[in-house]
Amino acid sequence: MLKKLLLHTRRSIRIITLILLSILIIIGLVILFYRPTYKVYINGEQVGYTENKSKLQSKINDYIENGDSENVAYVQIDSLPEYEMCLLKKGETANDDEIFEKVKSQGTPYYRYYAILENQEEKMYVSNFTEAETVVNSLKEKESNNIDNITIAEKYDTELKDFISTEEAVAKLYVEKPKPVEVKVASTSSSSSGYVNTATTISGGKASLGISLIRPVSGVITSRFAASSRIRSSAHTGLDIATSTGTPIKAAASGTVSFSGTKGSYGKLVVINHTNGVQTYYGHCSKLYVSAGQKVSQGETIAAVGSTGNSTGPHLHLEIRINGVAYNPQNYLY
Ligand SMILES: [Zn+2]
Repeated sequence: MLKKLLLHTRRSIRIITLILLSILIIIGLVILFYRPTYKVYINGEQVGYTENKSKLQSKINDYIENGDSENVAYVQIDSLPEYEMCLLKKGETANDDEIFEKVKSQGTPYYRYYAILENQEEKMYVSNFTEAETVVNSLKEKESNNIDNITIAEKYDTELKDFISTEEAVAKLYVEKPKPVEVKVASTSSSSSGYVNTATTISGGKASLGISLIRPVSGVITSRFAASSRIRSSAHTGLDIATSTGTPIKAAASGTVSFSGTKGSYGKLVVINHTNGVQTYYGHCSKLYVSAGQKVSQGETIAAVGSTGNSTGPHLHLEIRINGVAYNPQNYLY
């Protein structure tokens, strides 16, 4: 009884061993002739096989994120491939490159580039932000008159625009600042000729003029003779009388205009020579109505009040000089 059982067990073991061996041989044959592979489908249609699914997928993902040229921002792909595990017979080949090209042909690339706008209107396009910035900075450096209306916009589009070089863009957009127009009034003769004594020689004394003066304008005295100021580096050689721009300035006495034009910190200036070496100066004018060499009578309008030159508001800077030395106008007027 025991012998029979032992014999039976031994036979069973032999059978089990045989079965296991056959399974191993089958697996070996499968490995020898087949490789684990994925069937790839796009839109339900089989397009090929891949033996390296993750490599193909990361190649496709990289293409979606970056495209294949500098200006592609991303690629939109409507139907991504689907994978199904299968066994590829030896002799059949994986075609990853072909599958990738099929995916690419279905993609829509979105391009990124930069528009340069003037008054919100797209004027031209450049490839990248650095170039756009270069254009704007160059225009700023050249003090282009339209710089406040120039802006940059990032664009995404399925079509790529024609790009312009930064030099060409600057040349096309640059607008020269208009030069201030010199307004010549009344006289046509050379008004800026003549010598002006601008020395700051002043006297605290009260010399006799030998002539009588009238007030050229009426207004508020804002800075007295010899006063110091933060906008002035030396003592004040005259008297400041503030009044509105355009107020007529009258000749303090009759005489001959020795200067009418622009002179440094005086701005638009008229100087009249009177008798006895007396001169009167009228500075910061907005308009000049007389020219050098012209004879004027007392009370005649010679200029208009302004704020030209070193001035912070409309006023007349009145000077009275005797032989070039400035005296306090308040000794004689105001
Ligand atoms: Zn002054």
